[in-house]
Amino acid sequence: MEAEIISVGTEITLGQITNTNARFLADQLRQLNIKDYWQTTVNDDRQRIIAAIHQAAQRAELIFICGGLGPTQDDVTMASVADAVGADLKLDQKYWEQLQADFKQREVALAPENIRQAYYLGGGEALPNPVGLALGSLIQQGAHTYVVLPGPPREFKAMVEKSLLPRLHQLADNQTIASLNLHFVGYPESTLMDDIQEIIGTAGPVVATSYVQPGETQVRLTVFDQQCDTAQQLLKTAEAKIIAQLGKYYYGTGNEITLAGQVVKELKKRDLTVSAAESLTGGLFQATICGVPGASNVFAGGFVTYATEMKTKLLGIPAEKIAQYSVVSGEVAGAMAARSRQLTGAEIGVGFTGVAGPDGLDGHPVGEVWIGVQFGEQIITKQLHLSQRMGRQAIRQQSVQRGLLMLHHLLQSQK
Ligand code: ATP
Ligand code: MG
Repeated sequence: MEAEIISVGTEITLGQITNTNARFLADQLRQLNIKDYWQTTVNDDRQRIIAAIHQAAQRAELIFICGGLGPTQDDVTMASVADAVGADLKLDQKYWEQLQADFKQREVALAPENIRQAYYLGGGEALPNPVGLALGSLIQQGAHTYVVLPGPPREFKAMVEKSLLPRLHQLADNQTIASLNLHFVGYPESTLMDDIQEIIGTAGPVVATSYVQPGETQVRLTVFDQQCDTAQQLLKTAEAKIIAQLGKYYYGTGNEITLAGQVVKELKKRDLTVSAAESLTGGLFQATICGVPGASNVFAGGFVTYATEMKTKLLGIPAEKIAQYSVVSGEVAGAMAARSRQLTGAEIGVGFTGVAGPDGLDGHPVGEVWIGVQFGEQIITKQLHLSQRMGRQAIRQQSVQRGLLMLHHLLQSQK
C-alpha cells in the first residue's frame, strides 16, 4: 500500500516551524511497511489543499491531511477535504454536547467557533482526539482512504497512536513485520552502521536502518515477511551479536526509552541516589535527570560551579589543587564528583569539567572534557575528545550523555 502525507500550514511553508508531524508519521508508516514515496506541504489555502489532495489521489491510496483543524478562519482543512472528496461536513452532536458540558463543569468559556472542531466527514467517521478539542476524520472511498489529523504535535501523536495505528495495522499489507529499536551513544552514526552491517551482513533477512536523535543514534532492525516466531528469533540473534561487539556504546532496546530514563530506573532499582557538580554542562546533567518522571527518588540536588573559584567556594576543592592539575583535568573532575557526593550525601557523585568553546582554555582545546564518577571508594574518570565542529551546545549535550553512559555501565556492573 502506498501513502502520501499532506502537511497543511502556512507556518510550515514559510519556514517558521519544522514539520515534525510528517517525520513522526512517516516513521510509523515505515514500521508498518506502508510505502510513503510522496510528501506534500501546502499553505492554509483552500484551493491549494484541494489540488494537493487530488494530486495525491493519483499516486497513493492512503492519504493523510495534517494540520489546520483549529476553530479560527484560517483553519480550513476539514472543509477543503470535504470539498475535495465530495463529502458533507457532519456535526458530531453528541461530542459537541459533551464538550459544552465539560467546559461548563470546569467553568471555562467555550467559544461558539469551537463548534467547527466537532465536525467530521459525512459518510466517514470521526476520530476521537484524546488530548485536544478537534476531531479527526477517516473516510474510505473505493480504493482510497483519507485521514484528517490536527496540527499540534501532542494531539497529532496521541491521535496517531491511539486512534490510528490499530486501523493502519488492518490496512497495511498482510505481511508480517517485526522490528527492534536499539539505542547507542558516543559513536558516530556512519561508523556504527558500517560495524552493524558487518556484524549482521547486508544480504541477510535482518535490515538495519539508523537515525540520529539529539545525543544518540537509534538503529532499527527489521525483518519482513517471516513467521512471527522466526522473525523474533532472527531479531534477537542479531541484537545479541550487535550488543556483544558494540556494548560499550549501547544502552537499551525499546521504542520510547531514553538514556536518562534508563539510568533513573537503574538507580531506583538499586535504591541509589546521584548528585553532580557541573562546569561546562552548567546544570544540563541535573536538568536531564530531572526531566525523567520519578527523578525525585534518585536525585536530591547538586552544584553548578562554572567559574574556577566556585569549585573552591562551593565545593571546597583547594585552589592549589586546581592550579596544580589545571581546571580541565581528571583530578578536578574526580574531586568535583567526590565533593558533590559528600556534600549531598548521595551514593554516587558525578563531575563535569571541560571546554565547550568557542575558545580553548589554558592550553586545552575545545571539545576536551573530563568526567568523574565516584561510587563507594571507587573514582572513575574519563576524558573525551569531542569535535570542535559539533558546536558548543552539542558538546555540552554529548558530555551529559557520556556521563549518563558511564553511570549506566557502572550500574549494570553492580547487578
Ligand atoms: P489549532 O487549534 O492549534 O490551530 P490546528 O489543527 O489548526 O490546531 P495548526 O493550526 O495547523 O493546527 O497548527 C497548530 C500548531 O501546531 C502550529 O502553530 C505548530 O506549532 C504546530 N504544528 C502544526 N503542524 C505541525 C507540523 N507538521 N509539525 C510540527 N508542528 C506543527
Ligand atoms: Mg490552527
